[in-house]
Amino acid sequence: MDSGEDNESVESEERSSLDSFSGVLQLDVADEDLESVINVPIVDNFEMGGAIVSHNSNLNTESAEIIFDEGLPASHSYLGRDLEEIGGRLIFTELSRVVIPLLPGTYGTLLPGQTFPLTVRDHGRTTLLRKCVEGDHTFGCVSARYLSTAIINKVMFGTTAEIYEFSDDMGAVRIKAKGRQRFRLLSSKTTPSGYRTGEVLILPEIKLSHPFSALQLTSLNSFRVTNKERCRKMESFMLAWPKWVYDMYDVDKLVQRCDELTFLKQGLRKDKVENVMPKDPTELSFWIASQLDSEKRLFMLALNSPIPRLRWLLNFLRKCHQFICGTCRAVIGKQTDCFAMSIEGAQGTYVNPEGYHHDTLTLLKVENVIPISAPSTHFSWFPGYAWSIAVCRHCQKHVGWQFVATNRKLQPTKFWGLSRQSLDTRICTEENMCSLDDLPVM
Ligand SMILES: [Zn+2]
Repeated sequence: MDSGEDNESVESEERSSLDSFSGVLQLDVADEDLESVINVPIVDNFEMGGAIVSHNSNLNTESAEIIFDEGLPASHSYLGRDLEEIGGRLIFTELSRVVIPLLPGTYGTLLPGQTFPLTVRDHGRTTLLRKCVEGDHTFGCVSARYLSTAIINKVMFGTTAEIYEFSDDMGAVRIKAKGRQRFRLLSSKTTPSGYRTGEVLILPEIKLSHPFSALQLTSLNSFRVTNKERCRKMESFMLAWPKWVYDMYDVDKLVQRCDELTFLKQGLRKDKVENVMPKDPTELSFWIASQLDSEKRLFMLALNSPIPRLRWLLNFLRKCHQFICGTCRAVIGKQTDCFAMSIEGAQGTYVNPEGYHHDTLTLLKVENVIPISAPSTHFSWFPGYAWSIAVCRHCQKHVGWQFVATNRKLQPTKFWGLSRQSLDTRICTEENMCSLDDLPVM
């Protein structure tokens, strides 16, 4: 694999990521529209232009609040409204070897289920994406950040991405894609057309049955539907280990335990939590893993079953985490202050006008961070909010953005979007240290 080209593009991405925001106003919901909403009779959950006006008992228009619609950031409306929908879905057979185009210069790690927005103008990537759209609209994402390490270890994981919206205008190609299937990269080469393809092994998603599934007493079958837990407790007496040992590998119990990660739900309206958090163990494991940094997401790609993924996530995320400046190690924020501004959770991947990706984590409260630029609504990832570049107070390194509502009635009025590439994660107490190499015992 030719890693030199990838490394160069990654460095270029890092150099340009800070200064690529500039320009004119572009709002999904104009201030005038919001005001006009407030000036009409208010009804319960009246919805217009992506903002929801909550019910006010006095019908007092002055005090009405506009609650942000968490569905807007996930739609990536800042890319424009002229993208064409592409139908159909391609699912590769597990353990099959296929050749797919590889998108060069991908900095982060894409997980199945994650949305991947992209704007490209260079010849190589526009050619690749046009070919994809003409074909089966699927390409492979391999993190360039860890490619050099992967070449040494001879193991690299990635995810197929499926384009579902596409625009080709004035030399710029804009797409929205979804992460679909995990793969292991076997080999890659550059085609005569100038883009890279890779032979990949589609990894299986192993769904294990319950540990007691092979040991069900027929005499208990009539009670099993109404009292499943008690039946399992009785059946466990016939086994060598106590029931709690087997519970650690019971995928249904692992899914239930994810309720303990209450910070994941902060910011989501109560009526949406049930619909937003996936019920399927595999989808849930990737939805939660999308809140991790790029390195840990890559680790998740290597696991073939939702059971070890959920076990690792529960052990890691139940601990008290701090986000610290990647340069000077000053504390920037806490995991408990995460606040989901999107149905995809508190962290999402967004692209700026120059095509650079940012894994952005939203928090209501931060420390040691100051905004340094005038607010702008150009290309705002959160329609209705103006952003300002934010830096670490101690080392002046860029760590994210402050978002302030352009309408004083929009809730929340202010929040912060931290760039995960600029942060490290620290567990508060040393005895709770968790290694990527260890699958923990809960
Ligand atoms: Zn710093």
